[in-house]
Amino acid sequence: MLEAAIAAFRKAIGGENVVTDSVGLERYGWCTIPIRRQIAAVLRPASVQEVQQVVQIASTQRIALYPISTGNNWGYGSALPAQDHNVVVDLGRLNRIIEINTELAYAVVEPGVTQRQLYQHLQEHRIPLRLNPTGAGPACSILGNTLERGFGIGPYGDHFLAQCGMEVVLASGEVLRTGFGHYPGAKATYVYKWGVGPYLDGLFTQSSYGIVTKMGVWLMPAPECFETCYMTCDSEEQLGPLIDAVRHLLFNGVFYGPMNLLHRNRVLIMVGRYPWEEMGGQTPLKESVAQRLAAQKKIGAWNGVGAICGSKEQVRAARQTIKRALKGKASRVRFLSDAKLKLLQRYPSAFGVLLRMNVPDLLQALQNSFGMMKGVPSEIALSLAYWRNKRPVPVAGDINPARDNCGLMWFAPIIPMTGEDVAAFRRIVEPIFAKYGFECCITLTAVNERCFDCTLPLLYDKDDSTEATRAEECYRELVESCRQHGYVAYRLGLQSMEAETTRDDVFWSVVAKLKGALDPQHILSPGRYAR
Ligand code: ADP
Repeated sequence: MLEAAIAAFRKAIGGENVVTDSVGLERYGWCTIPIRRQIAAVLRPASVQEVQQVVQIASTQRIALYPISTGNNWGYGSALPAQDHNVVVDLGRLNRIIEINTELAYAVVEPGVTQRQLYQHLQEHRIPLRLNPTGAGPACSILGNTLERGFGIGPYGDHFLAQCGMEVVLASGEVLRTGFGHYPGAKATYVYKWGVGPYLDGLFTQSSYGIVTKMGVWLMPAPECFETCYMTCDSEEQLGPLIDAVRHLLFNGVFYGPMNLLHRNRVLIMVGRYPWEEMGGQTPLKESVAQRLAAQKKIGAWNGVGAICGSKEQVRAARQTIKRALKGKASRVRFLSDAKLKLLQRYPSAFGVLLRMNVPDLLQALQNSFGMMKGVPSEIALSLAYWRNKRPVPVAGDINPARDNCGLMWFAPIIPMTGEDVAAFRRIVEPIFAKYGFECCITLTAVNERCFDCTLPLLYDKDDSTEATRAEECYRELVESCRQHGYVAYRLGLQSMEAETTRDDVFWSVVAKLKGALDPQHILSPGRYAR
């Protein structure tokens, strides 16, 4: 059946867009999780019509397809399907920015449009709109991350909240347009999320119910004034009161986009690599070494970062409100504007003394975090994947943790935004990381005013198979213990897909029934978020 299907795929989308040779398939097997998959072939269609043809052939020949946009999905499985012998449908050639509406501040993009591409398009055409980059880097798809309900640290935060209108190829080969999009000539498809009747868009996120070929994305009009705010807590005791203060500030709309609180270890893994020499080749990182590195770089026990924007008067008022709210709760609060950043770049050492910051060491990180909150995609957050990797550092612009065999598994549970919840959560996860010999590197991202998305990277040396096995065991214990205490991840990776979705639970059985209704032959991403 596969041979007949391959012949039909070649005819439909051109032989050069059907990959079956081992060299061509190699990149699709790269992954930061210790899992391998047999991939039957890769298809590279270039239009919605070609995607429809591919689906029709797969349905006739009973071939399972696995659609990806850019296929990075770092730490969650990259381009690997949930099961063996799928045909990967790489939508990278569907990479048109179909529309940008400057007045109403939205873009309509295809799956292959990357963060870099949209950013450059806005820059080149001097369009005063800002995107919301994820930490996954400039080469990642805007649409792919939205379908996984990921978030960025720029304007709007939660990507799915800023999504409006979808075009989806169903397993039947039909094309579904959500919201108002199915009414010919509808004017409000990309400006009103809900349309009329049941809201269907959510069904196509974290699911396997269709292949999304187009999406509307709201962008943020560039504000008159923009600044970032950095807060440092020298002591662990400050975290609880800081969380309360931050929650009040968020409810009052002082910050723009999410606010991030980074544990000392998280900053260390973002700005350097594992100190193998100092540690004599031993892991995990000793507390004394972590403290020395943090002191040298002037990194606090907790480090907060957020953005404020609006008119000059609004930004001035926000600065004062933040300073007042954080008095006694943060050891230092500093603000950075474009003008200040230019001065830091010119006189890093002098400003380091003034700001009590190691500006020369942290300048790159400061520049990149400032840029990301302003909508400039960056690799800054991605370099952490190399923490325990012993291979040479790739040059900037060429970071690819899956290709470089970095060991990274993300665990991202949602924590209510209270000091007690964060403390209870830490009492669960920190001993587990210590037990298995890994560094616990927490970031708490306020994806809304009521909860943190805690992104926890489990970083290991993937070239060391014993360590990789230990990392898998650690991951399982983290998921299990957190669930028992009520903290559940917002997104599943390959590493926990089957265990979660096959649980005896009415929710997952309804998800399976919907799968049966929309894709009775299970030809789309079988095993992904549905049994
Ligand atoms: P990124 O490269 O931005 O991390 P991916 O392309 O890896 O995003 O997408 C993440 C996951 O979302 C994929 O593994 C796939 O299961 C699903 N996905 C991505 N794009 C589509 C799409 N256009 N239609 C359906 N599912 C998709």
